[in-house]
Amino acid sequence: LATAPANSPSDTDITDWDRDHNLHPWATTDSWRTDDYMRINTAKGIYVWDSTGKKFIDGPGGMWCVQIGYGRQDMADAIAKQVMEMPYASPWSSTSEPAAILARKIAEMTPGDLDTVFFTTGGSTAVDTALRTVQFYNNRLGRPEKKLIMAREKGYHGSTYLASSVTGKERFNTKYDNASDLVRFLPDVNPYGRPEGTTLDQWCDQKVADMEALIEREGADNIGAFIAEPILCSGGVIVPPPGYHKRTLDLCRKHDILYISDEVVTGFGRLGHWFASEEVFDIVPDMITCAKGLTSGYLPLGACIMSNALMKRMEDPTGEEVFYNGYTYTGHPVSCAAALKNIEIMEDEDILGHVQRVTPHFQDRLKAIGEKFDIVGDVRGMGLLGCIECRPDLPQDTFDAHLKFGAKLDMACEEMGLMLRPFGNMAVFSPPLIISKEEIDDMFDIMEAGLEKLSAEYNG
Ligand code: PLP
Repeated sequence: LATAPANSPSDTDITDWDRDHNLHPWATTDSWRTDDYMRINTAKGIYVWDSTGKKFIDGPGGMWCVQIGYGRQDMADAIAKQVMEMPYASPWSSTSEPAAILARKIAEMTPGDLDTVFFTTGGSTAVDTALRTVQFYNNRLGRPEKKLIMAREKGYHGSTYLASSVTGKERFNTKYDNASDLVRFLPDVNPYGRPEGTTLDQWCDQKVADMEALIEREGADNIGAFIAEPILCSGGVIVPPPGYHKRTLDLCRKHDILYISDEVVTGFGRLGHWFASEEVFDIVPDMITCAKGLTSGYLPLGACIMSNALMKRMEDPTGEEVFYNGYTYTGHPVSCAAALKNIEIMEDEDILGHVQRVTPHFQDRLKAIGEKFDIVGDVRGMGLLGCIECRPDLPQDTFDAHLKFGAKLDMACEEMGLMLRPFGNMAVFSPPLIISKEEIDDMFDIMEAGLEKLSAEYNG
């Protein structure tokens, strides 16, 4: 490599260096030396600015994570203070004030007896911790065969080996290996895909029956846990039918199968509550995983929260068993300080109340899009989560046009100053939770203009 210029790299240098040396998540192998990513230079509130100075509403909220918005001086101060006081303490041999206070705080926020918090580096490692805990637990109880994990088609749980193994999104069945012998997938729960004439209640019955059949087929003695996002977010904001969460939890209870609620996206206010499991979906699981909104994306942090009942059953009176799970950055003091400040800001500014107040408007505008545009097949969402999916038989009826709908809509909106997150035939959005009613209107006005443009294109 030629020696890089010592200072002030040019815009072109940065683009070149990024393209040549910085491998991004989900890079396509044909274009990983040609893709130029949008470079975001500054951010404030719900807005980001790219390197040309163009301003965008951040529709995806970073990556479903920037709850309190960008550019908070109070957050910067809290982080700086912790860095100067004590930036790192080994969680093996010591603890820190922020980690202890945050663990206590999260235990208060979670439902039921979920009082024990294991801190991780993000969502994937929180899921990994939950899944490894299932293995530890059943080995500890002397039933090593009770290990299978039930997961769902279209679920997303992360990118480490175990977390990606329980991820049901098609693209993960590619050239990566998975621990597939440990996992069994349940079919799609999306009500949008249900056969014509099937009511939501009947759909729920069928989805519960799918789980019953799987338990029957594999044997409850071989199944350790069910992992489920309350809403399948990366799968396209799929909201399972009413009653589904409770009935699947009841089935798990009946068969002594642990229930892991993956709240990496739904936690920390996205649906107007700290956690959605109990307050929105009426379930108290055995474990909850969270990350993202825990620090509003200012620093990496995740957590796996476990019930007292589970902890009790894992106890070993001889003290010989060791919970060999942990990361150098478990309970990182600076990340924990950021999470505490994030929670404080959310409390002081009643961000949960704000989400509850603006949600009806957000969801009304989303619903109106479904009614207004012929090229749209389905709109769905909850809280400040939304998804637009194109009609399966778009007029310009090519597989390619169908598949690129999300990217085309995102491109049309970006021209007008709104970023979305495209997923094949869908575009999803989850803006910062501080978004005002007027800003919600700005967002949806741009989406409607983008859909007008696409309608003309698809209808020729
Ligand atoms: N679980 C869910 C539900 C997610 O949406 C994600 C990421 O999008 C993860 C786990 C993985 O989190 P991370 O990317 O922080 O490892």
